[in-house]
This record gives sequence, C-alpha cells and structure tokens, in this order.
Amino acid sequence: MPTLTIKIQTLGGVYKRYASSLEKLGIVRLGDFLYHVPFRYEDYALISKISQVQPGEVVTIRGKVLEIKNEYTRRYFVIQKAKIKDQSGVIDVVWFNQPYIVKSINQGDKVSLSGKIEKKGSRLQISNPDFELGEDEFIHTGRLVPIYPETRGVSSKWIRRQVFRLLKENQKEIEEYLPSDILNRNGLQNLFDAIYKIHFPLSLEEAEVAKKRLSFDELFLMQLSSLKRRGEWEKNLIGFVFDIKKYNGQIHEFIKRLPFELTSAQKKAISEIFTDFSMEKPMNRLLEGDVGSGKTVVAAAAMYLAYLNGFQSVLMAPTEILAQQHFKTISSLLESFGLRVELRTSSSKKNWKLETPKGYPNWKFDILIGTHAVIHKGVNFEKLGLVVIDEQQRFGVEQRSILRKKGDNPHVLTMTATPIPRTIALTMYGDLDLSILDEMPKGRRIIKTWLVPSAKRNGAYEWIKKQIKEKGSQVFIICPFIEESESIVTVKAATKEFENLKKNVFKNYKLALLHGKLKSKEKERVLSEFKNKKFDILVATPVVEVGIDIPNADIILIEASERFGLSQLHQLRGRVGRSERQAYCLLFTETGSPQTNTRLKAMEKTNFGAELAELDLKIRGPGEIYGTAQSGRNLLKIASFSDLNLIKQTKKEAEAIGSKLTKYPKLKQKIEEITVKEISPD
Ligand code: ADP
Ligand code: MG
Repeated sequence: MPTLTIKIQTLGGVYKRYASSLEKLGIVRLGDFLYHVPFRYEDYALISKISQVQPGEVVTIRGKVLEIKNEYTRRYFVIQKAKIKDQSGVIDVVWFNQPYIVKSINQGDKVSLSGKIEKKGSRLQISNPDFELGEDEFIHTGRLVPIYPETRGVSSKWIRRQVFRLLKENQKEIEEYLPSDILNRNGLQNLFDAIYKIHFPLSLEEAEVAKKRLSFDELFLMQLSSLKRRGEWEKNLIGFVFDIKKYNGQIHEFIKRLPFELTSAQKKAISEIFTDFSMEKPMNRLLEGDVGSGKTVVAAAAMYLAYLNGFQSVLMAPTEILAQQHFKTISSLLESFGLRVELRTSSSKKNWKLETPKGYPNWKFDILIGTHAVIHKGVNFEKLGLVVIDEQQRFGVEQRSILRKKGDNPHVLTMTATPIPRTIALTMYGDLDLSILDEMPKGRRIIKTWLVPSAKRNGAYEWIKKQIKEKGSQVFIICPFIEESESIVTVKAATKEFENLKKNVFKNYKLALLHGKLKSKEKERVLSEFKNKKFDILVATPVVEVGIDIPNADIILIEASERFGLSQLHQLRGRVGRSERQAYCLLFTETGSPQTNTRLKAMEKTNFGAELAELDLKIRGPGEIYGTAQSGRNLLKIASFSDLNLIKQTKKEAEAIGSKLTKYPKLKQKIEEITVKEISPD
C-alpha cells in the first residue's frame, strides 16, 4: 500500500497515541500531514556569528555545546543553562522549566539555536530558543520555520518532522494530476514543489506561489467533484411525477389554516420545491435559512404534497431533542389533515415493533420523523417519496445515501441554518439547487444584545430577576463550551453551575437543568415543562444550539461567550426572539482582551447571520464556521472562500473538463479518492 494512504490509527507507538488528536486537526492518513499547511512562518533565517549578535535581534547561531545543566532556583522551578561556542565566541543559553532539554542536548553536541538575543547584566544571552541537533539538515532553525495549527500533545515541531520525513521519503508518491494545459494556462507550479514550498519555503514569496497552486487545486477539485455528483444525480430517473394541480385546493387550505402568514421567502421556497416535484428527476435541494426563518413549515408543505400523491416522507434530525420537537410541530400541522406521523429515535426503538418483514410493516405512517435511527436497517417504507434532512452538515454522505436508498430515487430536501454566502454555497454544494429564506417572519424584533463584563455580572442577575418577576420572562442560561462533543466534563461543569445558581443566585426561582447525558425521556420532560412555564430558568449546555423552539423564552445568557464563534453565538441567540415579545441576549465574558471585545461587539450591532458569518470568516477562518470535516464534505484547508476570483477561475476550468474527465486518468483517480474519502470519513 502506498505510504501516504496509510491510516495513522493503524500505526503503532506515538502515532497510535496521537491518532485521535490528529484527527481533530483533520489528519487521518499520513498523506494528510502534507495538506496540514502552516498558518504562519517564524523568521529564523538570519544566521549570525556569536560575536556579532545584537540585543533584541532574532537570530540563529550554530556551534558546539560547552556545557548544559539544570539549575534549581526556587522550589518547583528549574532553569536549563548552557554555553555554546562557535569560531567567533561563546554565548549563554537559558530555557525555563524544560528539564527534558538536558536529556536531549549533550555536552559536545553540534547544535543550531534560534531565538531572541537579550541583555542580562553585561552579558548577552539567548533565551528559550528553538533548537535542533546536527549540522546538515535544518528544519526547525536557520530558515523560515512553518508554524502549524496544533492540538493537545501535538506540537508544530513534531508535525514539522513528520512533514519533512514524508516529503523526503515519499516524493514519488506525490504525483502531478493536473493536465499540463491547466497548469500552463493558470501559471501554476508543479504539485511536489508546491507542497514542499508551502512547508519549507526559502522566502514568503515562495510560500505565496505554493499556496496559490494548492488553493487552486482545492477549489478546482471541490467544484469538479460536485459537477460529477450532479451529473450522476441527473441520471437518476424516477418512476413518478407528483401531481400538483390536482391538489392545489388542499395545499391552499393547509396554508390558510397555518397560525401565521407565510413570508414571501417561504412561499418562493415552497414553489421551487413544487417545481422540482413536477420533474422526472429527483429533487436535490438545499434550503438555507437563518435560525427562526421558518424552514420547518416549508418542509411540512412538501411532505403534505408527497402524502397527497400517495407517498411517505421521512425527516431526519441530528439530535433527539430536535427530532421530538419536529415530531410535535409536524404532527400539529398535519394530523388534522389526516396524516399519521411517527417518531423513531434510538430510545424509542424498544417500543417499536419494527423488525417486521420488509414491505409489510405492521405499523403505518405517512411521515416518519427521527434521529439517525431512521436509517436502521429494520426501518422500511412502502413508498418513500421524500427525504428531508435537517441540519444536513451534521450527517455524513453515507448516512444520507442509506436513507435515500430506502426509496426508489426519492426527492431530497436538505436544510441548514448555517448562513453560507451564496457564492460559497455554489462552490461547496454545486450539485445542489439552492433555496434561501432571506426574510424573517413579520413582527420579529431585533434581539437586544449586550456584552457583560464580569464586573457587571451581579447587576445582570438582578436585572434578570426583575424581568422574571415583572414580565414573566423565561430564561436560558448557557454554560461554557468546554469540548467539542458533549463530554462528561461539560456535563459536570453544567451541573455545578446549576447548583450554584440555584443556591446562591436565583434562590426563589424555579430552575431546571438540561444536558446531553440526560435520558431522552427526561430531556423531553424538562423541555415540555419549560415550554409550559413550570420553570423560570433553564440551565443548559450548548446542546440547545440547534433548533429548539420555545417561543416564550425571551432572555438568553451565554457564559464564556468568547469561546464560541459568532455564527454559533448567533445560533444560540436564535433560541429566543421567536415571538413578538422583545428578547434579550446577554453575553458574559471573563477575558477583557480588546480583540475578543471587538469580535463580540459585532453581536450587539448585527442580527444577521450571514453578516456575522462573513465576519467570522475574516477573523477566524472558514473552519470555525462550517465545523470540521466530519460532515463528509471536504472543507477548505488552504484556499479561502473570500477569494472570489480564484473561485471563478477554478469554476471555469472545472466546467471545461466536465464530462471529459475520463481523458485525464490521474485527475479522475484523484476525484475518486476524494469521493471515497467523503463516503468513509474515517
Ligand atoms: P428554523 O428555520 O430555525 O427551523 P422554525 O421552522 O423552527 O425555524 O420556525 C421558528 C418559529 O417561527 C416557529 O415557532 C414557527 O412556528 C414560526 N414561524 C414560521 N414561519 C412563520 C411565519 N411566516 N410567521 C410567523 N411565525 C412563523
Ligand atoms: Mg429548524
């Protein structure tokens, strides 16, 4: 097997230990190291004779170790002291609290050191320098040194070593796959050089040229593979065409009986979906709309039409809470029209007599709503006509495709609240048609948002109490975001905060706690009691982020808000302001850093998800907005969605290749590799 495709998990020793940390960085196979590109370079290129160094200079010196030792200064504090000599002189070196250094550097070793020269009394010293041993190959000192995104236990230095070794030992495997006319036309350098130079450039200009080539590839391949997916999708023919005219009356009745008037954006989305339904190829549409823009009712209208045409629908949601909520909403919207709606989650499984012969289930439904449990092999449909996937980025390609195969080329509607600017959506999801809900239901007010520094914490609590007493407000308190998934650590912290609030802050109020480790029955109970105003305050972990709809809640307080991206905060904030009452969002922060404040201040100023997403894109990079690659769609690691020119340029090239892909075997293989990776993200 080629080395670069080996999964790190399957290697022994340190790799095995680091595998899960590396995965967080998107490094699963050895080859992924090559595409883990530096976000900046340390400039250690100035190599100096010891006798010529100046205080304040960042330099590299090379010489022989005269002595090195640990020196114990205070209790628990060790400094490492060394003297290094070259032909021109001797200099002191000092490190702080890194006793292992004394084990890795020995007297007599040839060493290269990079760092800042300081004046200590009358002498010069270099403190906390980066270093490496040897005298011929330097990657950590004496040059532009790549600095990478790191994660616990995985340092830039370690990553750098892996990258260098792979480049040296596996050069043959890094084969050019772009046709030469594309390379020439776009002035791109060859693949190996680009990869080598993005990690180990001799100048920043070199790094820039390399980055351009790799950004080109990333956007080009993304668009080419979505064109390929679109081509494949368009080969699917369905045996049915929904009749729309015939059921016009019923659909109008449904819309008339809604408790509100549809926004024109909702009407447009519904009509786009209905147009798809009247085609002979299955719909593949992305419905994008900010939190609270009312996607659910659009999906309900689509499912109703499927029902009228004699077809079942399924709706898959990413969490149990959401599935339950959709179940309630959709039941209340559609049961009065005679539809049977069922719920299927992993906890409802036991009550389900679903292991019945295929095709003859002894349960009947028109709409099935659930979590990923709906893709279980025991779940069968008689006539599945429409698949709806909520918060699609949380599901893998494979899960979606299993669900789809439960029908005969059913229509697919995916929904997302992630505000992706149109150009980006067209790049990432070029195979999907797009409907955007760019308009909020009437009467919604702007959610008043305030940044609350720690000095004002108590004042904020008092204000909340007053709102509860005087206006009957209901409040979400969101505990800090600790780890990516709902871990035991997060749950413990939330429990502690809950106890603290109950005992010390909101003594005479009714509080409840919600977190991901609760049994789903319990979650459901807590939520429905909160909805029925049995509690004033719901303390929750960030699980409430997606979709929960409690129109009465009008205040949300978010702890440690600096840990969230703006888009995430916006999603959280969207839990309130779902009625005509004025809603408030209080962002608590502990760090007073000016950058953090500027970033969070944006929340005070704007209520538009798309605007905040653009800001996030500028400040924190796309990874933070669109989550990590778990979604199955490869996200950008190198290119930027804000590079509209490159997006256009690559789009043109991808379209030019179009169906002629077979003419370029290496490129074709590359695209297939990407597709395989998407289907098995592990
Ligand atoms: P999201 O797009 O975030 O999934 P939902 O579908 O949960 O939004 O809708 C949010 C809330 O807005 C729900 O309480 C829903 O009943 C209500 N809603 C949806 N459409 C409208 C509308 N056109 N006018 C008023 N309220 C609406
Ligand atoms: Mg929703």
